[in-house]
Amino acid sequence: MSVSDEHGGFTKDNPFFAPLSINTNLSGEGSGKETRHFEISLEGIDAEYDPGDSLGVIPENCENVVAELLNASGFTGNETVNVSEEKQKSLREALVSNYACTGITKILLKKYNVFAQSAELERLLAIENKEQLQEYLWGRELVDLLEDFPAPELSANDLIGFLRAMPPRLYSIASSLKAHPDEVHLTVAVVTYESHGRSRKGVCSTYLAERVDGLIPCYFHPNKNFKLPEDPDVPIIMVGPGTGIAPFRAFVEERIATGAKGRNWLFFGDRSAKDDFLYGDEWTKYKADGILANLDLAWSRDQRDKVYVQHKMLGKSKQLWDWLQDGALFYVCGDANRMAKDVDQALKDITAKEGGMDEESAAAYVKAMQKEKRYLRDVY
Ligand SMILES: Cc1cc2nc3c(=O)[nH]c(=O)nc-3n(C[C@H](O)[C@H](O)[C@H](O)COP(=O)(O)OP(=O)(O)OC[C@H]3O[C@@H](n4cnc5c(N)ncnc54)[C@H](O)[C@@H]3O)c2cc1C
Repeated sequence: MSVSDEHGGFTKDNPFFAPLSINTNLSGEGSGKETRHFEISLEGIDAEYDPGDSLGVIPENCENVVAELLNASGFTGNETVNVSEEKQKSLREALVSNYACTGITKILLKKYNVFAQSAELERLLAIENKEQLQEYLWGRELVDLLEDFPAPELSANDLIGFLRAMPPRLYSIASSLKAHPDEVHLTVAVVTYESHGRSRKGVCSTYLAERVDGLIPCYFHPNKNFKLPEDPDVPIIMVGPGTGIAPFRAFVEERIATGAKGRNWLFFGDRSAKDDFLYGDEWTKYKADGILANLDLAWSRDQRDKVYVQHKMLGKSKQLWDWLQDGALFYVCGDANRMAKDVDQALKDITAKEGGMDEESAAAYVKAMQKEKRYLRDVY
C-alpha cells in the first residue's frame, strides 16, 4: 500500500494538529501580490504524503470579522450556544472556530430571511430577480447581510443554526518528504481585497499568514490523478504559473532524492521577474545543475505585451511536441478559470501544427492524452 493510501487515517473530521515552523513572504517589495511559503512540522505525527497530494487546512476566522458580526447582530459574544448535541461554547468562540462567517449564498439568504422577514430580501430571492441577487451577493459577506436586513428577534442559537460548518481549504503540497523529512511545505497566495467599502480577507490564507496561534488542524488529501510517472526515466513537462508552482517543487525535489534520470521541463509565469519569481533561486540552480533540462519563464508585466506560459509553450512548439513523442507526461497546475483553458488550447494548437492534424483530430489527440493519463491537471 502506498503511503498516501494510508495518510494516517486523518480526515477533515479527524485532523492531526501540527505547528507552523516557517512563514515567509516569497513576493518582492514591488509585487502587487503576497505569496507566502509555509512549513508545517510533522514531527511525532504518524502520517505521510506523496508529491502531488494536497494538505487540507481547517482555519479559524479573524477575531475582527467576528467582532463586526457581533456588533451587526447586537450580541455580546458571551451568549452560550450549542455547537453540537453535547458541546456548548460562547457565541464568540463558536464563530471564530466552528462556522463559515464570511461568504453568503442564496440558500443562506433564504434561511436568514425566516428570521429577518424582509420584503426586500424576499424580492431579491424571487426567481425573476436572479441577476439582482448575483449583484447583491458579489463582494458581500455575512456582516453586510446582517446590517442590510436586521433581524431583531434572532437568537444566538438561531444565528449559528443557519451557518455552514467551517469548510477546510486544500493546498497543493510544495515539498517532498524525502527532501524534507517530517515537514510539509505550502505556497499560498494571501487573499485580501476591498469591496463595498470594507477590507476583506480570505479566511484560510490569512489564517496561515497572520493568525496561527498554536497548532494547525490539518489532514492529507491524496490525489491519485496527479502523480510522478512510476518509470523514473520518463520525461516530464510541468506548467505551473503563480501558486501552480507548488507541486512541481515537490516533483523536482522527489526526482532529485530518488535519482530519477528522466528529463524535467518547467514553464513558470507571474507578473514580474524581479518580484514574483517564486523559489527563483532554486529553479535557477536546478537549471544550472542540469536538473531542469528547460526552464521557460513568462513575465506578464515586464514588457508592453502580456506574455503568459501558453505563449512560451507555443514558442517552443517543435521541441514540446518532440518531448511528447518521446513519451513525456504533461502536467498543469494553478488557475482553472483562465490559465488552464489557455494552456489546453496551446497544447491543441501545438498538436495540430507539429502533428499535422486538423482542429478536430488535435482535440481528440489531447483528449486521449488525458484519458491515458499523459496529460494531468491539478487546477482550482
Ligand atoms: C486542489 C486544490 C489545490 C489548491 N492549491 C492551492 C495552492 O497551492 N496555493 C493557493 O494559494 N491556493 C490553493 N488552492 C486554493 C485554496 O484552497 C483556497 O481556495 C484559497 O487559499 C482561498 O481561500 P481563503 O480561505 O483564503 O479565501 P476564502 O475565504 O475562501 O475567500 C475566497 C473568496 O473570496 C472572494 N474573492 C476573492 N477575491 C475577490 C475580489 N477581488 N473581489 C471580490 N471577491 C473576491 C471569492 O468569492 C473567493 O471565492 C487550492 C485549491 C484546491 C481545490
